[in-house]
Amino acid sequence: MYYLICGILLMNYNSVQANPKSNSTEFLIGGDDDGDGLLNSWEINGLDINNDGNIDLDLPAMGSDPSHKDIFVEVDFMENHRPNQAALDEVITSFANSPSVNPDGNNGINLHINIDEQLPHEDNMNSDDLYEYKGLHLGNVVERADANRDNVINAREIATHYAIFGHTQPYSTSSGESPNMPGKEFMVTLGASKWGSDPATGHNVGSIDQQSGTFMHELGHNLGLDHGGWNDINCKPNYLSVMNYAYQMSSLLGNRTLDYSRSVLPLLNENNLNEVEGLGMSTPPNMISAYGPPPIKFTFTGIPVDWSRDDTTTDLGVHADINNIPSEGCLRSSGENLAGYNDWASLTFGDVSNGTGSTHSGAGQKEFTTEDLIGHRILLWESIKDLAYPVNPIYYNFSNPTEVQNYQLTNAILNDTYNNMTNLLVTSQLKNAINQTNELKELYKVTNDTKPIWYMDNMVTVLQKQI
Ligand SMILES: [Zn+2]
Ligand SMILES: [Zn+2]
Repeated sequence: MYYLICGILLMNYNSVQANPKSNSTEFLIGGDDDGDGLLNSWEINGLDINNDGNIDLDLPAMGSDPSHKDIFVEVDFMENHRPNQAALDEVITSFANSPSVNPDGNNGINLHINIDEQLPHEDNMNSDDLYEYKGLHLGNVVERADANRDNVINAREIATHYAIFGHTQPYSTSSGESPNMPGKEFMVTLGASKWGSDPATGHNVGSIDQQSGTFMHELGHNLGLDHGGWNDINCKPNYLSVMNYAYQMSSLLGNRTLDYSRSVLPLLNENNLNEVEGLGMSTPPNMISAYGPPPIKFTFTGIPVDWSRDDTTTDLGVHADINNIPSEGCLRSSGENLAGYNDWASLTFGDVSNGTGSTHSGAGQKEFTTEDLIGHRILLWESIKDLAYPVNPIYYNFSNPTEVQNYQLTNAILNDTYNNMTNLLVTSQLKNAINQTNELKELYKVTNDTKPIWYMDNMVTVLQKQI
C-alpha cells in the first residue's frame, strides 16, 4: 500500500513537471501542438468555422485537450443495432493505452465516442447510403434545428468522424466498411446471420469482440491504415494489428490484444525465410502470431520458427507462403516480401475530407465476412486434427475397457465421426462445439502432449467470443 501511494504521488508530480504548457495562453493559436488535427484554438476556445466570433462547435465542452491527442466519433445506429458500450469501452481503452506521445508527457489518445441517434432499420446499406445518412444525421437533433445549423455541421465535418452501426451491406456479409483511407466516415455492419446475436432481441448485431474489433479496424482505415499497415498485403504474421484480417477479431487467436501494431517487425521474404530469426521480437514482447499455409500454426515472437515444418528451427532460405491463411482477403500468394509496420506511429489525423485520401475498397474487395469467420473456425479445427489425430495408442491400456472406450471416442471426435465438429462449426452450434472441444481436451490429457491442448483451449476461447 505504501509503495502504491508513493507511486501515485510520483506519477502526479512527474506529469505536472512534464507539462510545460499547462497555461493555455502559451499555445500558438494557429498551431496544433498535440498533432491530432484539431488546432489549439479550437481545442481551447471551440471551433468558429466561419470566423464570425461565435463558437459553432464547443470542443472543450466535448473534452478536447490541446496538449493531448483527441479523436471524436459520432455514432448513429439503426434500430436493434445500438453499439454495445462494453465493445466501445474496449476501443477507448486501447486508444488510451496507446504509445502515442503528447505534449503533456502522457502517452495515449482520448477517443470520444458519442452515441447519438437511432435510425430506422434498413436491411442493406452501401457506401453511398453512408454518405447520405451522414448528410442527413451528422450532428444532433438540436444542432440540426438551430439557425446556425450549417456552421455547426461544417464544424463537425472537420472535427469529427461519423459512423453508423447498421445491419448488412448489399450481397455481402461484410463486417464493415470505410470508403476512404484516410477518411472521416465508416460503418459497422454485423447483421448477417452468423455474427453474434443480442441475447435480448435475438437480432444479429455482432458479439462484443466482433463489434470492438470491427469498430477499431474501420476507424483504423479512417486514420490511414491498410490491411498490411502501409500496403494491402493481408494476414502477414509479422504485422500484429487489428487491421490484419487474422486479428480484426479474436477469430484465430482467442486472446489477441485489441490494438494497432506498436513496432516494425523485421521483413519476411517468403523466398528466403530464416528459421533462427523467426518473427523477431515484438512490442510488447512475446506476442503470439499465426502463420500459414494450412494447417495454420501459432508461434511466439522472439523465438526461432519452424517455417519449413520439419521439426527443426535451424533452416535458412526456406520458401513458404506464410501469409496464406485462407479468407477472402488472404488468398494464396507465394514469394511475397512481407514488411512490418508501426501503426500507432503512423496515424493520419485531421481534415481528410478534401479528397486527399485514397479509395479503400477496389471493385469486389470485401471486408472480413462471416465466410471468413467460419473459415477461421475450420482452420483452427484442422490444425487440432493435424496435431492430434490419430491419437497415439501408447498412452492406453487396451485391457481396460474404459481406456479402450476413451481411445475410440478421442479418435471419433477428431475424425468427425462422433458429433461431427466440422458441422457444428459450420452451422454455428457454438455451445455444442465448445462443450465437445472441452470433452476432447479432457480425453486428450492422458497423452501429456501440451501443444494440442493449447490449440484446443484457444479454440474454446475463440468460440466463446463469437457468442
Ligand atoms: Zn439488423
Ligand atoms: Zn479493412
